[in-house]
Amino acid sequence: MKIVVLKFGGTSVGSIERIKKVTNIIIGYIKKKYKVIVVSSAMSGETNELIKKSKKISNNFSPSEYDVLLSTGEQASCALIAGRLNHLGYKSNSWMGWQIPIFTEGNYCSSRISTIYKKNILNFLRSGGIPVIAGFQGINVNNRITTLGRGGSDASAIMLSKFFKAKKCIIYTDVEGVMTTDPRTLKKAKKIKIISYEEMLEMASLGAKVMQPHSIQDARLNRINIDVKSSFTNKEGTLITKRKNISNNKTITGITSTKNDSKITLVGVKDRPGVAASIFKPLSQNFINVDMVVQNISANGKETDLTFTIKTEELQKTSKLLRQNKKIKFKKLIIDKNVSKVSIIGVGMITTPGVTYRMFQALANKGINILVISTSEIKISVLINKKNLKKAVYTLHKEFGLYI
Ligand code: ASP
Ligand code: MG
Repeated sequence: MKIVVLKFGGTSVGSIERIKKVTNIIIGYIKKKYKVIVVSSAMSGETNELIKKSKKISNNFSPSEYDVLLSTGEQASCALIAGRLNHLGYKSNSWMGWQIPIFTEGNYCSSRISTIYKKNILNFLRSGGIPVIAGFQGINVNNRITTLGRGGSDASAIMLSKFFKAKKCIIYTDVEGVMTTDPRTLKKAKKIKIISYEEMLEMASLGAKVMQPHSIQDARLNRINIDVKSSFTNKEGTLITKRKNISNNKTITGITSTKNDSKITLVGVKDRPGVAASIFKPLSQNFINVDMVVQNISANGKETDLTFTIKTEELQKTSKLLRQNKKIKFKKLIIDKNVSKVSIIGVGMITTPGVTYRMFQALANKGINILVISTSEIKISVLINKKNLKKAVYTLHKEFGLYI
């Protein structure tokens, strides 16, 4: 069987008109002799509305009921898609997670799919039917409904592709694919034609919101090729695949930037073992995510400065925790909210020497000062003043030839 999994995001099924459009896309694949498994999100805005309602009922809404509530959005969109396909003369049924069933493990609100029972869906596909499966949901060992975290229908699509050995997994969304950078920061951003899982994971965790990061990890582990494309146009999208399949000569694949980072510097902390751990322990206990960290080598062997970044929304809490921390001493605490992190990402940098130098020189030529630097195998990040953000992204785009 030549199976294709088509996943439609919230905006792609955001209105009756959109749902009609989407069913035409589905029929297009049927005409090309594919067996189609459809996965749908809730209509856009629906899940947010349900969350608001839960908050009005209780500020301590039970996680298990929260999942029952949130999963209802997908029920409506799936029924509408199947209903439209029926209307057009196609055999189609909607399926909720529990009807298949799709088993999940982990906590409510952030479960992960462990197993999918295939029999019913396979029989339906064989009989010429089009199953429309609710994304974002499953059941746990107690037979309770679970959800997969916000944006979780991406994970449903990936895992369905895995279990049904789909030839293709196509994620239909409202953008044309993965862009070299956020078009809101740089209008001239280009669509990336092909990108590796690793690069996509970096892009997603750095804020490119095309797909849920967990689902990219699932795809990587299971070697599922993903096509991300728009349901609004008929253009080619972005292929997310393994590194081996990529043979372009670009050093850098994409650039990301943040607008909501803050920098904290502790001036004059004691330079002895355990100090950094004492600083970060209360932050980790309070689930505050620390990002870039630099510690200077102390000149006198006694004191040093420690700088790190966090999300600005955690700033108040963080500075309170630092000031209350009796285990540490420092002379001054300096806070800077006007910072942005700009990162260049590309597996090409592993084999290309001089990328770090090129990045720093290009920024220097534009008079952009670098505050903090951090690197990984396929990423270099710099922290700069927020006022230079657009200039930096533009300059780096040019330096690494991303316009072509
Ligand atoms: N409807 C869910 C959400 O809004 C799942 C999804 O859209 O993927 O998070
Ligand atoms: Mg989504």
